[in-house]
Amino acid sequence: MDALQHTLRKSISFNGTGVHSGRPVELKVYPAEINSGIRLLRSDLGQTEPTPAFMDRVTDTRLATTISTDDDDASIATVEHLMAALFGLGIDNAVIAVDGSEVPIMDGSAAPFVRVLQQVGRRRQSSCRWMLKFHEVVRFDDDQGRTVRIEPYDGLRISYQIDYEHDQISRQYYDIDLTPRRFTKEIAGARTFCLLREVEFMRRNGLALGGSLDNAVVVDDQGVMNHGGLRYTDEFVRHKILDLIGDLALLGFPVLGRVVAEKSGHTQHFGLMQAVAAHPEAWTIVAYETQGENRVLRQLALSTRAVGGRVLPYLLPPSLVLALANSCSPASW
Ligand SMILES: [Zn+2]
Repeated sequence: MDALQHTLRKSISFNGTGVHSGRPVELKVYPAEINSGIRLLRSDLGQTEPTPAFMDRVTDTRLATTISTDDDDASIATVEHLMAALFGLGIDNAVIAVDGSEVPIMDGSAAPFVRVLQQVGRRRQSSCRWMLKFHEVVRFDDDQGRTVRIEPYDGLRISYQIDYEHDQISRQYYDIDLTPRRFTKEIAGARTFCLLREVEFMRRNGLALGGSLDNAVVVDDQGVMNHGGLRYTDEFVRHKILDLIGDLALLGFPVLGRVVAEKSGHTQHFGLMQAVAAHPEAWTIVAYETQGENRVLRQLALSTRAVGGRVLPYLLPPSLVLALANSCSPASW
């Protein structure tokens, strides 16, 4: 994990299609200042004040993760693959501007975002990177046997298992110790997937109008319908990890822990994040500090309880924000 916060070197833009609306949409991502996190705004509605991409703002998790960008009806859907690209590459601060109600689906994976973000590169910023270190297990279980939990772990590791009642997908397991390099190589390229019968149902309900074999893996009873087949033999479970990374980014801080998920989706990921907010005794806010040759974890001086379940810097009490800003400067590195 990086010790310092990063933003992107310069702004970038993408043109694509909203997978549900089928409409063309332009996306821009701008560099942003320290401790501001990832924020979003609807440029087509004239919004100038971006909204934190934070779990409090999530309004829908059924097909994709949707974030409300103001107190009215304005929202941006399908944020998770872009959030995963930013988080997976270690970008802490950025503003996402979209001129429509959805982030463009691109090829259904995070790879197109990752490619451009890597081309412009990251800029190191003059503040340490605060992380959530877990000391106790936090979990979310539903009554269908779906479960997701975070356990103490030195790093960010994700272990994911899926089990579909469909011969072509069935049971897959993947385990990864996340680094930007491994994220890029093993996870970013995994595309979203659905069953043919789900596509037909969504279309009847006015959804997935922009969906095609160019931006999703579609599976019927015979197998994968896409020309060229799969990018990885276990592409399905890798994509679930991509979604999880994008959802976890909505905690506002990187996680130091091992996330274990079984048969989960956006709704369960979100349930876990609510459990994290409800159990501040299970984690502390830490940053890396250099001591001679070594890098050690330093805990934020104020107790985590003072956070009151609010996780993101700009949602913290002002005294704590000041403590965050003052407690690590480039001079100490
Ligand atoms: Zn996805």
